[in-house]
Amino acid sequence: MIQSTMQEGALTISSLLEHSRKFFPEATVSTWTGSGLRTESFSEIGDNAAQVANALAKLGIGIGDRVATFMWNNNEHQALYAAIPSMGAVLHTLNLRLSPEQAVFIMNHAEDKVVFVDASVAPLLQNYVPQVPSVTDVVVVNGPADAFSAPEGVTVRAWDDLLEGESTEYDWPELDEHAAAAMCYTSGTTGDPKGVVYSHRSIYLHSFQVISTAGMALANSDLALVIVPMFHAMSWGMPYAAMMAGASLLHPDRFLQPEPLLAMMKEARPTMAAAVPTIWSGVAALLESHPQDISHLRSVTVGGSAVPPSMVRKFDEFNAPIVHAWGMTETSPLGSVAHPPADVTDPEEAFPFRITQGRFPAAVAARIVDSDGNVLPNDGVTSGELEVSGPWITGSYYSPEGNVSDPSKFHDGWLRTGDVSTISPQGYMTIVDRTKDIIKTGGEWISSVDLENVIAGHPEILECTVIGVPDPKWDERPFVLAVTTEGSTLDVPTMRAWLEERVPRWQVPERWSFGEEVPKTSVGKFDKKKVRQAYADGLYEVINGLEL
Ligand code: AMP
Repeated sequence: MIQSTMQEGALTISSLLEHSRKFFPEATVSTWTGSGLRTESFSEIGDNAAQVANALAKLGIGIGDRVATFMWNNNEHQALYAAIPSMGAVLHTLNLRLSPEQAVFIMNHAEDKVVFVDASVAPLLQNYVPQVPSVTDVVVVNGPADAFSAPEGVTVRAWDDLLEGESTEYDWPELDEHAAAAMCYTSGTTGDPKGVVYSHRSIYLHSFQVISTAGMALANSDLALVIVPMFHAMSWGMPYAAMMAGASLLHPDRFLQPEPLLAMMKEARPTMAAAVPTIWSGVAALLESHPQDISHLRSVTVGGSAVPPSMVRKFDEFNAPIVHAWGMTETSPLGSVAHPPADVTDPEEAFPFRITQGRFPAAVAARIVDSDGNVLPNDGVTSGELEVSGPWITGSYYSPEGNVSDPSKFHDGWLRTGDVSTISPQGYMTIVDRTKDIIKTGGEWISSVDLENVIAGHPEILECTVIGVPDPKWDERPFVLAVTTEGSTLDVPTMRAWLEERVPRWQVPERWSFGEEVPKTSVGKFDKKKVRQAYADGLYEVINGLEL
């Protein structure tokens, strides 16, 4: 056997941080204040990161300790992304929109010691901390320390006071690249949330994918608008990939409505942006009534839920092309990305590739299996549960007693995604549905995703979701909860007739309800669990098209 001559070199966050500090003086991180931008250079963010690390060390934070953030996307959060893993501690991003029970469960499970909290959400955290005995310190960011009143045994400081007098250099420890760097709990709609722990190595390798042309192609020349929250699967890897590539970042803080998003785009003219489809449908609706040039966006990354083809068309009209991607908290999260093959240059021929969930990167293996675990062919037709494996895919869930590879979630070393998909011979993956969302009607399957995509294509539908509901004759039938555009007089017979021209007749839903909005999960996806419950509780005024 011949040995390689290559050196070892640990792939760690501190090396990314120092790289960004030294080599990208022109790159910036900006946060929207509601009326303008506050901007720092990567070097200033690096200074802040070192100051935070020095201060945390004095608070007794050491290797492996969990430091949580309960924050919006902003400059301080970016500095914490850099500081906490670099000093050997573990960054734990807490979702701001969890139920109190889930938040308390997660903080106790992770045994968070210090929590950084944005002043605007401090009242929420106030309710949780007294129930989490591991917390010793709270740091209030973007507001005074008294925005959070300390429970017994907890010390509260303001961000500026924490950093005051601290050195802007820190002697980062040499870490094993496999050590824990960050953790994120799944937004799981069933059971307790599950913790995914990323390593320095997994984040580093994943960053290569984010900057790769097969990924998001995040580059030194980019200004990326990071709408996807820093608590949702690490903002899809952009904060770290930006340090690697020297890409500038634009953080929206708490201003996530279409109006401020368009205002910040007008001011800063980002070259790319990333968010779930519900954000983009709001932006698109506003652009219809208040036209604005957004062609400075060379790429709009959309993932987290399936992108309706009509949305891809709409953003093509805006000259801001959508790039569709698939991923999970468990997969760091990139996943597959839908770039058409190089030889397909005609836009109409490229379109069908762009609305798939895309191809997987070299490091991530993907396969589909049947309910007995047999591997199915990649013929673009056969569907089965998607399983993935690779160096930035989780192999277990976090447990203080030892991480757990539950067979319901893992299969021979592969992560079971819970997504049903097809994979084409060229490797393009298409999500059919979540396993639990497929509508089983009279022995046939209806993909709720397919129906949603078609219905969302009606010009008078603002948003819609489809769930399976019990039916005495067919076991299950689809139910549509839809929101129409202002002033629309759309009715069920019209929609049914419109759908009959687009989907097989037996798939056309009978049951419809028109509402004010579709409920969303904590990360902005349609919350089918809530819709199911509300339907079961009789909260919707259901119109049955067959009875009209
Ligand atoms: P989360 O970990 O909360 O981001 O959820 C991951 C799940 O979101 C995946 O298992 C999919 O069900 C869904 N998902 C993510 N991206 C897409 C996409 N592009 N199309 C359809 N579903 C998606």
